Amino acid sequence: IYPGTFDPITNGHLDIIRRASELFDEVIVALARNSQKTPLFSESERLGLLEAAVLDCCSDRTNIRSDAFQGLLIDYARVTGATAVVRGLRALSDFEYEFQMALMNRKLAPEVTTVFLMPHEQYTYLNSTIIRELARHGKEVGDFVPKVVADALKKKFEVKYH
Ligand code: ADP
Repeated sequence: IYPGTFDPITNGHLDIIRRASELFDEVIVALARNSQKTPLFSESERLGLLEAAVLDCCSDRTNIRSDAFQGLLIDYARVTGATAVVRGLRALSDFEYEFQMALMNRKLAPEVTTVFLMPHEQYTYLNSTIIRELARHGKEVGDFVPKVVADALKKKFEVKYH
């Protein structure tokens, strides 16, 4: 399972998804419904973008699917029979939070292992918050996100401000 908020999905996320699909029999990209965050895109918008982006980037990989889940990740992992949770590590700044989560999840579900994957260096500075900020201020984000996402961001902020 590769869980996240995906608000919106970026090329960094897609890099991790592809790597995971080369390591595991099956990868479920799982949108967390009950995140504490207040997302820019609704759940159905984020899921739609995620599905379109995965189809676009990884149609040669048949072992990737998308889903959304509510509640605790480890409960979802049990229901799906997943053996591993994949998380992306970009920089040291990600480490502390990810480490805490991984250890807590291991305590709660020892049979599920958290695996950290590093994206290509070109994505290490990329996160969804920065993308939303750039798009909010009318900057081009096409280098960092798939085209469907860049278009959706444009539309979102056009609707808001015009
Ligand atoms: P969450 O709210 O769970 O952190 P995100 O959608 O922000 O959800 O991130 C999901 C996962 O993807 C996290 O493990 C995060 O570290 C990782 N991630 C986010 N951006 C990148 C990137 N540019 N490169 C690699 N991993 C990333």
